[in-house]
Amino acid sequence: MNNIPEDFQIAIDGPASSGKSTIAKLIADDINAIYIDTGAMYRAVTLYAKMHEIDYEDQKTIEDNLKDVQINFQKTIDNDQKTLLNGGDVSFEIRTPEITNNVSLVSSYAGVREAMVAQQREIARGNRVVMDGRDIASTVLPDAQLKIFLVASVEERANRRFKENTLKGIDTPLETLMIEIAERDRKDSTREISPLTKVDDAIEIDTSNMTIQEVVNKIEDLIQEKL
Ligand code: C5P
Repeated sequence: MNNIPEDFQIAIDGPASSGKSTIAKLIADDINAIYIDTGAMYRAVTLYAKMHEIDYEDQKTIEDNLKDVQINFQKTIDNDQKTLLNGGDVSFEIRTPEITNNVSLVSSYAGVREAMVAQQREIARGNRVVMDGRDIASTVLPDAQLKIFLVASVEERANRRFKENTLKGIDTPLETLMIEIAERDRKDSTREISPLTKVDDAIEIDTSNMTIQEVVNKIEDLIQEKL
């Protein structure tokens, strides 16, 4: 696919563990676009609070500290992406259960969202990007040329997270993961500012019974249709 405009933007939204980042990364690689994992940014802010012993409930202190939170992404040689927090690689730390279970609270704060959305738009401006998150089509990139909403059953998503965790040496039981995922969905969908929603012009794909490659192919067909 080499006829894609330099400023073509793809928004991929969906609930926790619906496969967004795996799919987004592969598509970004195929079409030579920048991949922006917005969830990693909210996770990095949450980790910053933990590292500085700021209570996750303390919205004001977290917001006051945002000026000292610098988040960057760095591509690795094996085509993965590292998340850097103030220059340090935190890719592993941002995926620990403690961060996963507190990120929905921290990401619900107005000041946190405002700062992250501004950075996300700045990275995207004028570039070919694939951005994944919860509010990309609704808030961050409402003019994205292609908007995808990925869904999968809670059971399937918990199974995927369980397999990922096993590889990382994290051993949370499957039942606990199902409860945690359902709870994160509830918080992300019911928060006041930019809740997880499917916009009218987003195309919904249920990935429950699809392989990763099937989802990638489907989205790449949709890209072709938009050209
Ligand atoms: O995508 P991921 O599961 O890593 O996102 C972690 C959390 O960050 C979500 O559960 C949600 O609370 C928050 N988030 C958000 N808006 C985004 C991306 C993630 O609020 N655009």
